[in-house]
Amino acid sequence: MTLEELKTYVRDIPDFPKPGIVFKDITPLVGSGPALAEVVGRIGDRYRGSIDTVLGIESRGFIVGAPVAHRLGLGMTVVRKPGKLPGDTLAADYELEYGTDRLEIHRDAFGKKSRVLIVDDLLATGGTASAAIELVRRLGGEVAGCAFIIELGFLKGRQRLGDVEVFSLLGYDGE
Ligand code: AMP
Repeated sequence: MTLEELKTYVRDIPDFPKPGIVFKDITPLVGSGPALAEVVGRIGDRYRGSIDTVLGIESRGFIVGAPVAHRLGLGMTVVRKPGKLPGDTLAADYELEYGTDRLEIHRDAFGKKSRVLIVDDLLATGGTASAAIELVRRLGGEVAGCAFIIELGFLKGRQRLGDVEVFSLLGYDGE
């Protein structure tokens, strides 16, 4: 499947969750076997042999992260919203395109010096991913890259992630 075809599975929902935001709904993409396989294949194959674990960001990052890890024969770990993880955690605060929030990770999520691929559905301002990067580094991990299905290029989130390699499948340059 081409990237142009893949893009037809992303549905725009205007003014959700608040006026002025165009929400990129990936449920049609995830609901299609061929489209989901295309996403998992393209992200997984890019990082084959160069990572030790996959870190999924709650909650849509879990949908992509687990099958990517499985494809590579690796395990997966998670960053979650506050109060969800039962063990000993580290926290980082961040700003969203619409609001502020906090992410937490288990302190024993991965071994020191692990090469970690951070995965989420969408890169907007980069606040969420930069909090995940901070958590990986505070735990002694190495961020091997950040992979997304969608990148809203006009929000320049990539710049906020510094020298971390950013890989996205579908770019949107207009608002
Ligand atoms: P940001 O921290 O600004 O890069 O926002 C990325 C996070 O917010 C991701 O977890 C996305 O799922 C979600 N998000 C932000 N903007 C949108 C949007 N326009 N459509 C869908 N999800 C979004």
